[in-house]
Amino acid sequence: MDRIGFIGLGNMGRPMASNLAGKGFPLVVFDVNPAPLAQLGHLGARAASSCASLAADSDVVITMLPNSAAVDAVLLGADGVLARLPAGGIIMDMSTIDPVLTDRVAAAAAGKGIAFVDAPVGRLASHAERGESLFMVGASAEAFARVRPLLKAMGTTIHHCGAPGTGIRTKLVNNYLAIVSCAFNAEALALSQRFGLSLEKTLDVVHGTTATNGQLKIAWAAKVLTGDTEPGFTIDLAHKDLTLIVDAANAIKVPMPIGAAARESFSAARTQGQGTKDFSAMVDVLCDFAHITRPRLP
Ligand code: NAD
Repeated sequence: MDRIGFIGLGNMGRPMASNLAGKGFPLVVFDVNPAPLAQLGHLGARAASSCASLAADSDVVITMLPNSAAVDAVLLGADGVLARLPAGGIIMDMSTIDPVLTDRVAAAAAGKGIAFVDAPVGRLASHAERGESLFMVGASAEAFARVRPLLKAMGTTIHHCGAPGTGIRTKLVNNYLAIVSCAFNAEALALSQRFGLSLEKTLDVVHGTTATNGQLKIAWAAKVLTGDTEPGFTIDLAHKDLTLIVDAANAIKVPMPIGAAARESFSAARTQGQGTKDFSAMVDVLCDFAHITRPRLP
């Protein structure tokens, strides 16, 4: 069985490492903060004195660190993991970082005969606690097979996205949607409050339409992503509605920065002669503008 080293025992890393320890994986752990080391010790994990000593005693090193700078220092530093992990080992970085650094670490690892896996995590710390995380994995087929039992011990949903570097890029796409939707959800509920609407009734309505059922999941899958841009609901009408919404909100002093920016995107699409297309065709307008292949499902 591979010996596992785990570096970074914060809100996510501590419960993830706890799941590995609890499921019997031989585990050595390290964090600059000593508090979680003791907690992991109670579950049978051994504390290392540094990243380098952890790497020297591991076959697979997992990192769950806050940012790119920490990952750079821990993996590529003079006394870092890559300097000490024996050839044939695996580094699996599960942090959310700059994909350019992911590529740099993968290349440096390959140069030393070490496989690199990027496996950032979807869902929240509460899911990590219960072993119910989702993973987006970039790995060769061989490395994926080797880390899969570890991922299964920490989560319930594992997506092999492709070669190293595809996991972290999938994570950025996912988080873009998740985080921007917080901003426009905030605008929508502020507008509803200012209109004096019942929150319960508003939520009932929007949960029964594509407003929250998901343009991407339901509407787009049957329209633009299959090449069907016949309306439906046109870009012209969507632009008209966004104008009504932003104007009504502004008139009663509800700022709508996301709504206004989105309205201008629809406005730009209309100037391109796309106003009569289905509003899901906004993705085609943007892709054409940036010389990107239009997304189509097989
Ligand atoms: P955190 O700040 O709680 O934990 C990071 C841990 O790394 C800390 O314990 C810190 O002491 C340790 N650390 C920092 N530098 C170190 C170093 N040089 N050597 C050893 N240990 C070091 O962060 P988190 O919430 O656990 O998130 C970790 C990563 O996971 C981030 O990239 C985050 O974006 C991502 N993420 C977080 C969540 C979430 O809900 N918190 C969900 C998915 C992904």
